[in-house]
Amino acid sequence: MISKKMAAALESGICIRDIFEEGKKLAAVYGAENIFNFTIGNPSIEPPQVVTDALVKYAKTKPGLAVHGYPANVGFQDVRECIAAYLNKTYGTNYDYNGIIMTVGAANAMVCLCNVILDAGDEVVTFAPYFWEYRNYVENLYGKLVPALCNMQTLQPDPETFRAAISEKTKAVFINTPNNPTGAVYTEESIKNIAAILEEKQAEYGHPIYLISDEPYRLLSYDKPVPYLTNYYKNTIVVYSYSKTLSIPGERIGYISILPNVEGYKELLTGINAAIRYLGIVNAPSLQQKMLLDCYDACVDISIYKKTRDILYKGLTEIGYNVIHPDGAFYMFMQALEDDDVAFCERAKEERLLFAPGTAFYGPGWVRISYPVPAEVAERSLPAFKRLYDKYKG
Ligand code: PLP
Repeated sequence: MISKKMAAALESGICIRDIFEEGKKLAAVYGAENIFNFTIGNPSIEPPQVVTDALVKYAKTKPGLAVHGYPANVGFQDVRECIAAYLNKTYGTNYDYNGIIMTVGAANAMVCLCNVILDAGDEVVTFAPYFWEYRNYVENLYGKLVPALCNMQTLQPDPETFRAAISEKTKAVFINTPNNPTGAVYTEESIKNIAAILEEKQAEYGHPIYLISDEPYRLLSYDKPVPYLTNYYKNTIVVYSYSKTLSIPGERIGYISILPNVEGYKELLTGINAAIRYLGIVNAPSLQQKMLLDCYDACVDISIYKKTRDILYKGLTEIGYNVIHPDGAFYMFMQALEDDDVAFCERAKEERLLFAPGTAFYGPGWVRISYPVPAEVAERSLPAFKRLYDKYKG
């Protein structure tokens, strides 16, 4: 028997993977080329050559245990030094390698931080629409996730809604830019507003509020730079993942980075070190850590995703859909053609179009189109989108 908590999570969750799997079944019946599956964020671009070369090279290390044995909980020192130096050069920061902790991707890093920071009843605010797993990370530890809805005309954080969402119980704020599910890149003005409100609230409540920046899409920004948040708010903790930028989500590698001036720096590091293993949050895989020595600054060719983005955005808006221009990641948020976005997704399946309902991301009435697909697939999907549109408006 599964726990009541898990049963409730299953009941309330809309399983995006289920829709994706349904797409695979439809592909078996109608042919893969006739199914347009915009459901999940699995990168379609091959990993850069430097990545696969590095995996092979470090797999052959002798003695083998130097790579394949248990590493330190927080990761290899040479890898952490390399990442600290890269961040300092790129963003003008002053990371010390001690503040870089290698993790099993971003999801595990977020769960690790929740374990270190949250007590039962504590609150975490996040900007909605948001990555649906956040609720589980927090509520699994008996915390509460409080959504602060963005301005749905711009998909930028709304300062007043954000201010109202913070309470004395707020321990952290999750921020994700470029954003999943909307593709929005939060502007410098938005970041400055968030930082000012957080400073004000920290002073009012007399305890730190950590801004936890979940950044798997940092390098996937097509039109504008993504502000580096530690430069705006001192108590920022950055989580990074190589899943999307190197097209290796199955390799599970990322890190947490904390600057020495963050309040509680030493306690945070001690807590993270303890959480890794004591709480079953396992260390980052050692081969994938070593691989980073050769490709810590690499990225897939983002012009490929940009091309798909441009085809879809232009095509969909010309048909008549309301889509907010996505500046980054590989997602766009499109308004459903009926109030019930789940029903809209069902109707789209008649045209062999699969995408996720906004309700799954606290964005009801909208849908998420996940577009890490070849440009040619995006192009061929447009007549199906047109037929769907005509069913409602034609
Ligand atoms: N955070 C966001 C916003 C994501 O979109 C994802 C993956 O899709 C993750 C975290 C998880 O990343 P990882 O594959 O590194 O665990």
